[in-house]
Amino acid sequence: MAQMLLIDMIRLREAMAENHDIKLPEALFYPTANSNGLKTVRELAVFRFTCRKCEDAPCIAACPAEALEKDEEGIINRHTNLCISCKSCVTICPFGTMMTDFFRHHRNKDLYYDLTDNNDIDRFISSCPPGTVSLTDMKESPEDNIYKLNERVLIKELMYKTD
Ligand code: SF4
Ligand code: SF4
Repeated sequence: MAQMLLIDMIRLREAMAENHDIKLPEALFYPTANSNGLKTVRELAVFRFTCRKCEDAPCIAACPAEALEKDEEGIINRHTNLCISCKSCVTICPFGTMMTDFFRHHRNKDLYYDLTDNNDIDRFISSCPPGTVSLTDMKESPEDNIYKLNERVLIKELMYKTD
């Protein structure tokens, strides 16, 4: 079985706090609905695992472009073709869930890596801050804060739980 890519969101936030000028590479797997193909693995991970899934979702109410909506699992989805990068959602989110660089209008294509390409996977790992992304034989392990995002990606994150 192919190894999984493990993205450590906890370490990634630490690296961003240590270096505010950091330019994070982006990993793309597949175009998602209404994303123009630019939805990144990191954004998918944030909305699935970092977001606290507020019942009243102030981010949705604050969005002037109706670009945010909840899916049937209560996970926020940003329609990048509607988003105007105003960052109102970032400002209003009480939990600092979103990383502001999700909302850049003009993307630097050199920072993008195609995770269906093994060479790109290697380049992506070496472009990320040390200790944030690795290949692993591990499986999903909630007791270690490791969760499965999709068939190739594991995310390490401190999930907010109400129970
Ligand atoms: S940055 Fe995009 S998703 Fe967020 S509030 Fe503005 S238009 Fe909506
Ligand atoms: S306000 Fe923040 S934590 Fe709440 S649903 Fe929106 S992104 Fe998630």
